[in-house]
Amino acid sequence: MLDATQRARYARHLILPGLGLDGQRRLRGARVLLVGAGGLGSPAALYLAAAGVGTLGLVDDDLVDLTNLQRQIIHGQGDVGRPKVDSARDTLTRLTPDVTVHTHPTRLTAANALDLIADYDLVIDGSDNFPTRALVSQASARLLVPHVWASVSQYQGQLSVWSAGEGPCYHCVFPQQPTPDQVPSCAVGGVLGATVGALGSLLAVETVKLLTGIGEPLIGRLLVHDGLAATWDVVTVRRRPDCAVCGSGADPTRALGATTAPGEPTAYASVGERPTVTARDLAGLLAAGATLIDVREPGERDGATIPGALPVPLADLLGGARPWSGDRVYVHCHSGARSARAVDALRANGIDAWDVRGGILAWLTEVDPEGMPSRP
Ligand SMILES: [Zn+2]
Repeated sequence: MLDATQRARYARHLILPGLGLDGQRRLRGARVLLVGAGGLGSPAALYLAAAGVGTLGLVDDDLVDLTNLQRQIIHGQGDVGRPKVDSARDTLTRLTPDVTVHTHPTRLTAANALDLIADYDLVIDGSDNFPTRALVSQASARLLVPHVWASVSQYQGQLSVWSAGEGPCYHCVFPQQPTPDQVPSCAVGGVLGATVGALGSLLAVETVKLLTGIGEPLIGRLLVHDGLAATWDVVTVRRRPDCAVCGSGADPTRALGATTAPGEPTAYASVGERPTVTARDLAGLLAAGATLIDVREPGERDGATIPGALPVPLADLLGGARPWSGDRVYVHCHSGARSARAVDALRANGIDAWDVRGGILAWLTEVDPEGMPSRP
């Protein structure tokens, strides 16, 4: 039951068609986990607390920085230097006595993601990096917990509800993690605070809909916003039967986080359908006898080469040239674009091909700086 104060506080919900007293009770009984207490998490958490959601969990290991305040409106000037989860909890409990806030001042990892998310009815991903998004995706798909997600860059944003079992999961639609140089971070590319606010508010809208059972959740649809053009488009997205996370062949016992951030000390990182290996890990694999294919043009090899690489220009390889024996090959080019094409083509032909992420540029940076061609 709601007491007299709560009836007044939520009066505009109680008269709202579809929501009403029953919806308000559901909100009060709901437990929502927010991954990231930043730009997207700020409006989402504020609106959900104000809406009467009973329990909010906050996962973030970051401290409030002065540069955050332009968009992370749950934190104030006096919070700079404090843990974000503490600052956010104080703001939320000042807003309403009806919310219980659980703070998790930690980074979401493969080791804790399942335990953290299993304790909640729904997870909101407002994180700012691809490895965390992949983890939330994998854990929520495994647990069949609805996953409300948005991402924002500069003046653009995207939003969807991933629901393994019902619609596509995040990995169905984004099987490849871009490398950091393909997508500028907020720190590099900038971001408009109000754009983050718009997408963060919609995270709360979709969450309220899911918790109360009203409306059509954004499952199987991707909302794409361009703030400069002032457009909102909806793109249909589909489940992939062969999805490595939610498809029929997905392994429920597989460790989370098989996709990892570049530079992390793992032997391999399998990115979607195109497995990749870092240059640093390639060095060890070559020492153990791995086969490496260089798909650059002959003239390019005058500059620098990876010792032992077998030259097979991309056109020859796409034409069917296979001058090697053995089951698995690693493929590199200059920076990674052509090797990705080559790996896709080889894998389509049943060959266990792996992409060397970043090509010879990564090799020269990470493994063999001495191999740089000398400048005249
Ligand atoms: Zn999937």
